[in-house]
Amino acid sequence: MRDRVLEIFEKTGVLLEGHFLLTSGRHSKQYLQCAQVLQYPEYTEELCSLLIEPYKDKGIELVVGPAMGGIIIAYEAARNLGCRTVFAERENGKMALRRGFEVSKGEKILIVEDVITTGGSVKEVIDLTVKEGAEVVGVSSFVDRSEGKADLGKPFTSLISFNIETYSPQNCPLCEKGVPAVKPGSRKS
Ligand SMILES: [Zn+2]
Repeated sequence: MRDRVLEIFEKTGVLLEGHFLLTSGRHSKQYLQCAQVLQYPEYTEELCSLLIEPYKDKGIELVVGPAMGGIIIAYEAARNLGCRTVFAERENGKMALRRGFEVSKGEKILIVEDVITTGGSVKEVIDLTVKEGAEVVGVSSFVDRSEGKADLGKPFTSLISFNIETYSPQNCPLCEKGVPAVKPGSRKS
């Protein structure tokens, strides 16, 4: 599965190879831009069908995705599972269900996300749905960048675990070689 996921990531521009200037000020050889795959419904569909595989027979009634990264994934996961979907978004800095979205007491929920790094947003979504009495069956993300460290307090699965090495500008092997660096998201010339 890892190979196929990587193949899709490379094909759709999720995984970029080069010399990148990260917002943290560090440099890297790789960059992940998960939104890229969501341009292509056929690949999004394929990844989401892998994503929900562990939850197919778990009686999931609602898929929740945190905005923005989780919205399309949650929609496609719910379409595949044949259930309802809502998204959570920030209101005054805190994750909330707005627009009249609700979860019911006892509702079995799957939370999906594109990338989990610290799991902060997902944890907030878990808390707000549990507070309404829902049952969070699990959390699933395309990518786990936590190096297995994200402790969500719920079963957590991902399609791929990914660790991108970063360098300080002083110790960057690509700077040393004189490879031009780019800010991810800027257009290639
Ligand atoms: Zn560099």
